[in-house]
Amino acid sequence: MALVVQKFGGSSVSDATGIKRVAKRIVETKKAGNDVVVVVSAMGDTTDELIDLAHEVSVTPSGRELDMLLTAGERISMSLLAMAIISLGQEARSFTGSQAGLVTDAIHGNASIVDVTPKRVFEAIEDGAIAIVAGFQGFNRGTGDITTLGRGGSDTTAVALAAAMHADVCEIYTDVDGVFTADPRVVPTAHKLDFVTSEEMLELASSGAKVLYIRAVEFARRHHVTLHVRSSFSNKAGTIVAEPKEGETVEAPIITGVATDKDEAKITVIGVPDKIGRAADLFKVVSDEGTSIDMIVQNISAAATGRTDISFTLPTGDGPRVVASLRRHQESLGFESIQYDDQIAKLAIVGAGMRTHPGVSARFFSALADNGINIEMISTSDIRVSVVTRLDSLDEAVRAVHTAFGLDANGEAVVYGGTGR
Ligand code: ADP
Ligand code: ASP
Ligand code: MG
Repeated sequence: MALVVQKFGGSSVSDATGIKRVAKRIVETKKAGNDVVVVVSAMGDTTDELIDLAHEVSVTPSGRELDMLLTAGERISMSLLAMAIISLGQEARSFTGSQAGLVTDAIHGNASIVDVTPKRVFEAIEDGAIAIVAGFQGFNRGTGDITTLGRGGSDTTAVALAAAMHADVCEIYTDVDGVFTADPRVVPTAHKLDFVTSEEMLELASSGAKVLYIRAVEFARRHHVTLHVRSSFSNKAGTIVAEPKEGETVEAPIITGVATDKDEAKITVIGVPDKIGRAADLFKVVSDEGTSIDMIVQNISAAATGRTDISFTLPTGDGPRVVASLRRHQESLGFESIQYDDQIAKLAIVGAGMRTHPGVSARFFSALADNGINIEMISTSDIRVSVVTRLDSLDEAVRAVHTAFGLDANGEAVVYGGTGR
């Protein structure tokens, strides 16, 4: 008998029909002789709709109250899913994150899991029931308050439970057949990958491939949890995300995939005095706003002025707050002005094969140039090259790059559900 953790994303449970379809699938897994722990996301776009609603009643909703509101989304789906399973003749019990023992730090909206004590989940499966756990949520022991794990955080709940319970399998069910070479909504010729190393998946996720949440991939990597990403709408084998097996030297393709991120903005701080410690002061102000910056470019200073320009990218949602904070510190930082640009996007190519193949950047940049796409910023790691382009040329850019690296499939990728929001 195996212990199987199955996570179903919002698009898989977007309505009653979806919930019943998923319930049937879970019951089949149970009837095949497995213990089953299910993690479920809020139905469809519920989380986005609740966030919109919060902003209708408050310009800056309280973090505590926002978490309280958002966790209601997963409560709805967990209880409906349990009811659907029970009506199929199986025992099921739903649990909130705190009931399932997901202990986090106290950071509202982006809490990290610090402990998992799934006593009640174990009890449920020992009693022969299917345990349904609300994804994306936990609680802090110090404050006693409910927290959320960041957008896409149900993936992290699934991985954390799989690790804590020593599950044999951790399946992430979504609305596409697995991890593709690009977002199939944008690149219909993307093809499904059978295997992705967790290192590559981390880079893809951090570059915007939201099929898996970056922190879930990190958690899985740290705790050696193998992930199976697959569709809840088909029975096809999906993508295995894991460490490569010891001694296995499969020749890696040059590029494994292409990822895009439209939720990025660029701040350029103009005329920063070129003095030791000034960049440190500037980025201290930025980090105090709790944002995670990505690319940074500092120009060489003009000899005549002794001043330089510093540009960096950050999530669009944090942009206005960080600009306001920098303006408040303008005098002490001594810069001349700020430019804010939210019409940019990031495009990254990822692949372990890059380490051994020279000329990858040249091919990447040529593909963009041949399509008249301008590069505004560049950054690299040893298995990734990222660029910033204009937002409105991003889709064209990603298709061109996908073709240039020979990633196009013959057929079209299937997107079974979801709104892509
Ligand atoms: P869920 O509701 O199941 O959590 P998400 O919307 O978070 O689903 O993630 C699935 C979506 O991720 C897909 O519908 C697809 O549009 C998008 N996506 C982006 N990049 C990729 C990729 N490389 N492979 C597969 N899907 C991707
Ligand atoms: N419902 C949450 C979100 O939309 C968590 C998740 O789906 O993973 O971000
Ligand atoms: Mg998701």
